[in-house]
Amino acid sequence: MTCQPVNHDPLAPLLAPLATLPGIGATLAERLARLIGGARVIDLLFHLPEHYADRRARPALRDLRPGGVATIAVEVVRHEPPAGPRQPWRVVVGDGTGFAELVFFRPTPRITALAPGLRLVVSGAVTLSGGRPALVHPEHLQPADRASLIPAIEPIWPLTAGIAPWQMRKAIGAALASLGEMPEWLDAALVRQRGWPGFTPALRALQAPATPPDPLIRQRLAYDELFADQLALALLRAHRRARPGRALSGDGRLRAQALAAFGHALTAGQTRVLAEIDADLAGPRRMLRLLQGDVGSGKTIVAALAMLRAVEAGAQAALMAPTELLARQHFRVLEKLSPVRVALLTGAVRGAVRSSVLDGLAAGEIPLVVGTHALFQESVVFRDLALAVIDEQHRFGVDQRLELGAKGRLADVLVMTATPIPRTLLLTQWGEMEVSRLTEKPAGRRPIHTTLHAQATLPELIEAIARALAGGARVYWVCPLVEETATSDLAAAEARFAALRARFGAVVGLAHGRQETAAREAALADFAAGRTRLLVATTVVEVGVDVREARVMVIEHAERFGLAQLHQLRGRVGRGSSASFCLLLHADQLTAVARQRLVLLRDTEDGFVIADADFRLRGGGDLLGKRQSGLPGFRLADPLAHEALLRLAAKDAALLLARDPELVSPRGQAARAALRLFGRREAARTLRAG
Ligand code: ADP
Ligand code: MG
Repeated sequence: MTCQPVNHDPLAPLLAPLATLPGIGATLAERLARLIGGARVIDLLFHLPEHYADRRARPALRDLRPGGVATIAVEVVRHEPPAGPRQPWRVVVGDGTGFAELVFFRPTPRITALAPGLRLVVSGAVTLSGGRPALVHPEHLQPADRASLIPAIEPIWPLTAGIAPWQMRKAIGAALASLGEMPEWLDAALVRQRGWPGFTPALRALQAPATPPDPLIRQRLAYDELFADQLALALLRAHRRARPGRALSGDGRLRAQALAAFGHALTAGQTRVLAEIDADLAGPRRMLRLLQGDVGSGKTIVAALAMLRAVEAGAQAALMAPTELLARQHFRVLEKLSPVRVALLTGAVRGAVRSSVLDGLAAGEIPLVVGTHALFQESVVFRDLALAVIDEQHRFGVDQRLELGAKGRLADVLVMTATPIPRTLLLTQWGEMEVSRLTEKPAGRRPIHTTLHAQATLPELIEAIARALAGGARVYWVCPLVEETATSDLAAAEARFAALRARFGAVVGLAHGRQETAAREAALADFAAGRTRLLVATTVVEVGVDVREARVMVIEHAERFGLAQLHQLRGRVGRGSSASFCLLLHADQLTAVARQRLVLLRDTEDGFVIADADFRLRGGGDLLGKRQSGLPGFRLADPLAHEALLRLAAKDAALLLARDPELVSPRGQAARAALRLFGRREAARTLRAG
């Protein structure tokens, strides 16, 4: 075996900060980083052109036609200074076959000084000006001897203010100079079969092309990213499995008491997911499970029973909610059910009460605790936390979720989400977790009648609400914004509150996000207790608020909400056994797509169907008028558009790990490089160095 001198790491220059590139100072580096969403040289190379200007056409002036881009080799004939105000400066050029004009509305000294007889190469879009072909503000203008500076195929990158195209070109050029050959991390057979180039040639072909790049090249890079993502998730899964957990089992005594207090039998779905959770709890490995259950599907009792299993096993369990309000609500539910002591720990719990909770948790005297993220502060110490349940945390990223289990050395983690997650997302953002789905709702639940109403019909709608209130109903009225602003015509909760109060009097309450927490909670409590019966609210009622008596949900400007969010809101009603209604008020004029979305919501109550549809509509690029640029964490691939590639990448990654779990083979080593290039650091860290 020969001993090669240790090569310097080919990744190092790519992982280095942008400012290490020649010609890129701190200011430009910072601007670039903001634009491209990353501060490393490779991030710049992943900033792919939107399209390409093809400058290869080099017609004689005789053949120059408007439309399209041309590059012409010409001689300056004469200047025609502006004939009047707002007239352009014209430079007439010729090539022996004909004439053309270069037109400048903001001429620079460099332009006005171009001497007649000077030979130029000019490239730009061709238009007509007074019958003559013209290039208005041509993008490139060089003396003939520097014509090679004009790219034949010019990449056009997405830019922002403060970054000129030439700066981008220079920066990309410098970045490409530090891009060396990479070992192949993809399966050789796949690369051959697909006709893909290697990673480095692919980047070069896209960032500095000699000919217009083949779509296959982009596909290769998209696949690289999907592969790195799936490999990272597979590694995290494997890593977690390899860590010992603890077997939690119990005699079911506490559970039986809790179920008796609950007073209902579990649904078949609840029984099934609880069995899945129990199998994890009883197994020797750590649990990291996602419980997906549509709003109102009854996740809380499942969580409570899982937590009691931990207590039966002699340990502690914690339930974390995203807001103070929800923490209190869960606390009340658990307090009613639990045969053992339950404590509440939120930011609002202070002083002596707080100290006694902290002491009780540290001593193990408090077996169950419900709280907000305050639970995960350093000052909170458990004697023996065996299970952490996290409710409604679908907004967290993979890395954050992994941290949550860290409180208890071996704590199992159950994440509950009320937003059904589209399958594609499950595969990417949640790929490191096992998944349970709760699809049915507790028996006796009546469907929610959903209807659409144009804003113009508001007066009739208010009369219908008047009848419902007279019949004893409790009504949510959701508005998108709190204060009427000059720039917004959104229905304002305060204005609506004032109007409805004038009509219905003291039964009308108001809850919104800008209230003091205490005032808001009081408003919600009044509604829950029936002291008020029409609650005007912003989306604070979205997540998890449980008032069984609420039977009517009015949502103003429904077209401005995401579908999944509307579904969430609608789920606030229909919790009791009597018929419920959801009235979606919308702008009088609706676009076809907006109508389609609302109709979909009207016609289905299946949260999973709605989530998939919502995801597709977002993926389509326009949600509430805002451009959504794919999923977080992806810059080359669009997991929605590349779903087939994503599935392939998932299989490919699993296969590689099955053969080479430590990634030590040549391909495994190459795959480590891919993880680093694509920023899957968390996964790379689970591997031993090597
Ligand atoms: P979510 O999944 O949205 O958190 P909850 O756990 O709040 O749903 O449950 C919604 C409502 O259904 C609650 O009022 C709860 O008491 C009730 N519920 C849950 N499970 C059952 C069941 N098996 N039988 C009857 N009612 C149930
Ligand atoms: Mg809930």
